[in-house]
Amino acid sequence: MLKDVLKEYDLDSVSIATLASHSSLQIFHGAKQEGFKTTAIAVEDRLWFYEQFKHLIDHFIVLKSWRELCRREVVEELRRLSAVLIPHGSYVEYVGLDCAENIEVPIFGLRRLFRVEADQWAKMGLLQRAEIPTPRLYRVGEDVDRLVIVKLPGAKGGKGYFLARSSHEVLEGLRRRVEEGLIRSPEEAMIQEYLVGVPVYYHYFYSPVLDRIEILGADIRYEANVDGLKRLPPQFAVELSLEPSFVVVGNIPLVLRESLLPKILEYGIRFVEATKRELPPGVIGPFCLESVIGDDMDVKVFEFSGRIVAGTNIYVFGSPYSYLYWDEPMSTGRRIARELKMAIERGVLEKVVT
Ligand code: AMP
Repeated sequence: MLKDVLKEYDLDSVSIATLASHSSLQIFHGAKQEGFKTTAIAVEDRLWFYEQFKHLIDHFIVLKSWRELCRREVVEELRRLSAVLIPHGSYVEYVGLDCAENIEVPIFGLRRLFRVEADQWAKMGLLQRAEIPTPRLYRVGEDVDRLVIVKLPGAKGGKGYFLARSSHEVLEGLRRRVEEGLIRSPEEAMIQEYLVGVPVYYHYFYSPVLDRIEILGADIRYEANVDGLKRLPPQFAVELSLEPSFVVVGNIPLVLRESLLPKILEYGIRFVEATKRELPPGVIGPFCLESVIGDDMDVKVFEFSGRIVAGTNIYVFGSPYSYLYWDEPMSTGRRIARELKMAIERGVLEKVVT
């Protein structure tokens, strides 16, 4: 599919396209900085908001619902625009896995990774085979011998997650979530050992053109109400039976101790190598490892994202790390556009799109 589609493309006028959501403004901004045209795929009710940023957007494709993305007219319009689609955190969640991975429009990134990301067990398996340290995992029904976090599937920003101390608490919490319609059956959940330490999220970029991996930034997520509970005297939380929850509200920038960086880069390299082995040609462009660092400087990774993460929105102006590689403001959005530009100039576009 890809070769035939690219044959029809005007490589002097490629349009960087993405769903108007998540990190799209950063992506459009970066695309403009690198001289690309841009296409925003928007749903009707959000159009007014993205129209405020018309100076970053050359073309709007307006849908009634996200699920219309794979309709023939929409795909044809994207191809007429010589569009390259940039997946972000809302992409699979909004358009559905089948459309996301089968759409006949070139995607900047590794589309085979979407299916792995959608399956929590496959995801953790990939990290383990990459020899990246991970928390202990439990199946539903398995005996739980320590504090655990119970996670629901899908990229819903931590919605419905809860802590439990026993198999009974796990089952009880899951029963309630089935009742609330958050999941269909308890087996959909993943149970992980709860890691005590500080959460840190690393933004990487693997460049197939330069064959190198860059650390573009790091962030902390600000989550309701686990972060809010710190503001209450502990006895209030106990008296009011307040339970921590993990709903992402925003992101906070972070600079790491330099002595941690070699380990962080090493984990990134292991991830790239594992995807090259298991899902050739391997990850392309941005990805993120999500970790907890304990007081022994142990870094354990509890999750990854195989595409741009919302935490990179902090660094539209570049980060302390991206500046070291590029000596100019380099956001992840701009880095994507730079990679695409280098690939087009060097005649190796097929290295960065799938
Ligand atoms: P996730 O959906 O995997 O990104 O998790 C959402 C949030 O839950 C994270 O940002 C962390 O605050 C928390 N979390 C997830 N997994 C763990 C874990 N194994 N140990 C401690 N906290 C976790």
